[in-house]
Amino acid sequence: MLGCTVPTIGGLPEGFSWARKWGCECIQIYVTLSRRWDVSELSAEEVLQFKSAWRKSPVKKVVAHVPYLVNLASPDKNLWKKSKDRLRTELSRARQFGVNFLVLHPGSYGNSNREDGMKRIIEALSDISGEIDDQKTRILLETMAGQGTTIGSTFEEIARILEGVGNPGFFGICFDTAHVFAAGYDIRGYENYETVLKEFDAVLGLKRIKTIHVNDSRTNFGSHSDRHACIGEGNLGLEIFHAILKDSRFLNIPKILEIPERDKRSEDNLQLLRKLHVIPGRLPQSNKLQKQLIRKKTHVKQNTFSFR
Ligand SMILES: [Zn+2]
Repeated sequence: MLGCTVPTIGGLPEGFSWARKWGCECIQIYVTLSRRWDVSELSAEEVLQFKSAWRKSPVKKVVAHVPYLVNLASPDKNLWKKSKDRLRTELSRARQFGVNFLVLHPGSYGNSNREDGMKRIIEALSDISGEIDDQKTRILLETMAGQGTTIGSTFEEIARILEGVGNPGFFGICFDTAHVFAAGYDIRGYENYETVLKEFDAVLGLKRIKTIHVNDSRTNFGSHSDRHACIGEGNLGLEIFHAILKDSRFLNIPKILEIPERDKRSEDNLQLLRKLHVIPGRLPQSNKLQKQLIRKKTHVKQNTFSFR
């Protein structure tokens, strides 16, 4: 299941028009204005319009992203409380819209320390998950690059948060390829991909992955710097994306592109990923051939792989 972050200028239902235009089977959106703390009331009419646009679209799953303002690890008591309240609002909206997953960056501990930051994340998530007893919308913790004082760049750290919050049915994980690579897990190439997934499986369990952010990385391996790139234009190579798209374990998992220049580049990046999806076996190792593939000079039919 493949899609991308879609623009919602003109209202959330607009996201589904972009999905149709770009051929997305899943989309990612913000369900509130992402740069503002104040959130307007949600009307029953808005919910109906959203659901009706979704029904008429090719989209099977909707992923919402929690705004970056939210920081559940913040040592600032006021900001921590505001963040928790906002997450509650995000979750409430996501549930009303019938959104499947709500992706959350665990948080940054700022001028405090990692341990205290972890405790604050666990406390906030435990409180919020304790208020809801169904699994209509799951909160997904995203794997992070580890920039600055960010928490969640190792699989162990995410495992500790999940153990701390309990309520396992309510939480899952969003695996971001660019972040994992920048965090120091080398996922370049088919063998490395398997090795990293094995490690993930041992620490967290692959079943916990509910969404994958398919992004290339502009920054280097282990840089802890979070800068996404278009597919094939960063340091990851095409093999990892080919492997993910072909991986039967992730067949029904939303795979979402989050690239720079989203409005201009989503369409061609999705086309490239769809091309990769139908290539059997392994990609040719030749850089030249891979570059041709990226430059759209290839024509790929089901079960054939011919360069023109
Ligand atoms: Zn991401």
